[in-house]
Amino acid sequence: MAIKQLVVLGSINADHILNLKHFPRPGETVIGGNYRVAFGGKGANQAVAAGRSGADIAFIARVGDDDIGASIRRQLQADNIDVRPVEPSAGAATGVALIFVNAEGENVIGIDPGANAAVTPAYLARYEQVVANASALLMQLESPLDTVIAAARLARDHQTRVILNPAPARQLPDELLVLVDIITPNETEAEQLTGVTISDDAAAARAAQVLHDKGITTVIITLGSRGVWLSEGGNGVLVPGFKVRAVDTIAAGDTFNGALMTALLEGRDMRSAVRFAHAAAAIAVTRPGAQPSIPWRDEIDAFLQ
Ligand code: ADP
Repeated sequence: MAIKQLVVLGSINADHILNLKHFPRPGETVIGGNYRVAFGGKGANQAVAAGRSGADIAFIARVGDDDIGASIRRQLQADNIDVRPVEPSAGAATGVALIFVNAEGENVIGIDPGANAAVTPAYLARYEQVVANASALLMQLESPLDTVIAAARLARDHQTRVILNPAPARQLPDELLVLVDIITPNETEAEQLTGVTISDDAAAARAAQVLHDKGITTVIITLGSRGVWLSEGGNGVLVPGFKVRAVDTIAAGDTFNGALMTALLEGRDMRSAVRFAHAAAAIAVTRPGAQPSIPWRDEIDAFLQ
């Protein structure tokens, strides 16, 4: 029997979060509170969601050669992730996101990619066998784009399915899109990629068609609390999410993506995999923060009872 392994390629960041009454203007200092450091990065969040929900998963990423990098790596391992392809990058700092949150809950974010920039095509090449052994490769856009394209090519060469969560939003070259089997944009990202504003289901269907025309078989546009627009080969349907009391939606999309992979690798059909991912993401939005909010398998199963 084939080993159904998932490989995630993506970013790792230490999120430094500070709450302020209002954002500082240029030259202003604002005293705030509730400073905390949380482990984040879209790649790491999605890897954690896959690991906790039960996938056999390896993560290709980099931390800095610093203390926080070492503790992040240990935490990822505790989340059921094979971290052998998470190497410290000599002389680099672990990726950092500096996040201010104001009284309205809005945020402004500055990022130093740090060691994430060292996830180069040459680094990826060290782990060709990991990509070859996997049945699916999940990526986002916080890693260098040339590496994302190289990884998609490598996956194609080895019949590994390519799943792209095209976040953060940006335009992408056709040479990448043509290699993608499943794409999972949110509304903003779908608009960036297709030029179609996702105002209703008909617009979602039009956006999905633009992506099908690029060669992508399955398009899943996430619609926040509404659920997703699922389009397979041009036949689209709204798959509603679960109604919960949301505390914050940080890492909702990341949890959805990681859990979706787990369900697909277990052989579920797309509708039922989306339902499993909806459940995982619904649990995550009822809890504060990114990685601490991501559920374990027993919690997802209990939710779906
Ligand atoms: P992103 O976080 O990438 O912007 P979305 O906001 O579209 O992504 O949310 C992704 C998924 O998370 C949704 O498809 C749904 O499963 C779940 N989700 C998001 N917000 C809510 C909510 N308020 N209630 C329940 N589920 C939610």
